[in-house]
Amino acid sequence: MDDALAVPAFRDNYIWLVPGPEPRDVAIVDPGLAEPVIDAVERRGLHPALILCTHHHGDHTGGIEALAARYRIPVYAPAAEAIPGTTVGVRDGQVFDTSVATFRVLEVPGHTRGHVAYLSDERLFCGDTLFSAGCGRLFEGTAFQMHASLMRLAALPPQTRVYCAHEYTISNLRFARHVEPDNDDILHYAQRARRLRDAGQPTLPSTIADERRINPFLRTHHASLRAHVARLGGPKSDTDAAFFATLRRWKDDFQG
Ligand SMILES: [Zn+2]
Repeated sequence: MDDALAVPAFRDNYIWLVPGPEPRDVAIVDPGLAEPVIDAVERRGLHPALILCTHHHGDHTGGIEALAARYRIPVYAPAAEAIPGTTVGVRDGQVFDTSVATFRVLEVPGHTRGHVAYLSDERLFCGDTLFSAGCGRLFEGTAFQMHASLMRLAALPPQTRVYCAHEYTISNLRFARHVEPDNDDILHYAQRARRLRDAGQPTLPSTIADERRINPFLRTHHASLRAHVARLGGPKSDTDAAFFATLRRWKDDFQG
């Protein structure tokens, strides 16, 4: 199956166009703007079939109504959030068939209270919950909720491809190296990310296997990370969720 196409928007967002078995039909994920999507779709002769929205922030929703009106397509969005243009409110565990793919809904609160991810054919569209080498900020939910959401994503099959909504990988890796400098996987992944960005390519998708090796927010149970964070003055023993909360606060203040 073809990979999803990244349409860059704003400074560092990606709007993903997801192909199906009939590759001209695409799902549009988190269109914060309509114009770059229309441009990408029309240049390639694609047929938008539906819109998937992960959460209510404007950089994920701003283009929804214009695209839905132009292409007369349904809009799937979390039932727990008020998102203009929603035609199908989705909840955890819901599965829906479309001409592009069958999608399964995972509720992953933390960044926002109603945030969802969409899973299809080992492709994960996770909005602002999981980033490569990082995770979303806690705007509405608690650290406990976000940690549980991330553990849920980390438990997906390792080959699952991870399509995040922002290109934050290189700056996230600076923090990852700060808290776990002995992890050579982070070093190698950073070299790869730099090569891709220098060539003008997205660093995404990553995979769940990659993230389990390099993402400190999925590694809260690892002794090497715990030991180095303690050397930096962090908590010596804590539950995974409390340790996650410390890491998330440090990342908020990190000047890498
Ligand atoms: Zn957001």
